[in-house]
Amino acid sequence: MPDYVIAPPAIAALPIKGSNAMFPVRRIFCVGRNYAEHAIEMGSDPTREPPFYFAKPADAVVISDADMPYPTVTKSLHHEMELVVAIGTGGSNIAIADALKHVWGYCSGLDMTRRDIQNEAKKTGRPWDMGKGFDKSAPMGLLIPAEGFDPSKGKIELRVNGKVTQTSDLSKLIWSVPEVIANLSELVELAPGDLIMTGTPEGVAAVVRGDLLEGFVEGVGTVTTRIV
Ligand code: MN
Repeated sequence: MPDYVIAPPAIAALPIKGSNAMFPVRRIFCVGRNYAEHAIEMGSDPTREPPFYFAKPADAVVISDADMPYPTVTKSLHHEMELVVAIGTGGSNIAIADALKHVWGYCSGLDMTRRDIQNEAKKTGRPWDMGKGFDKSAPMGLLIPAEGFDPSKGKIELRVNGKVTQTSDLSKLIWSVPEVIANLSELVELAPGDLIMTGTPEGVAAVVRGDLLEGFVEGVGTVTTRIV
């Protein structure tokens, strides 16, 4: 190991259900507008435009059940409930038919969004980074191994303070999990440890301090966080 002039950063990692081992996180990629009803609520046309991506830093992960601090410089913190794919084997130009072989596992996650900052960025043609990639913007649940889970269907739901705000099904993804992996692997070389947040269904809304967010994806598990 080289001598570093400052301490190297800690490795962000996700806990795994039923194991003491952790999954190290390399990068977090997120798919924009991947459910038609959400595209419509955001004022977009839900036709099958090519998928597009933004990113969060690996250390934006908030480990399952931990509190999420309300971020600075926003008056509109939105929840986006999503299926998260954890890449175990990297690759470039991955074929759709081979894509699921690259998946180590899945978890439930929240793509928390400073919507006011994102909307301003859209208006001015600026990057989304500060609307999406801020500190602790990605609460995630326990990771489950991929074996036996079929990401082509399954209920996805979020409750805020016990009330359902988002409910849909993975079968409504405009770009399926294998299609997203294949497409993203043309843009970057995917690597072990990469996470892909696959997009949110309709029903996104603002949360406030004290709110309890409880999401789940059928067959995967839950993500829970309280905004503090
Ligand atoms: Mn999202």
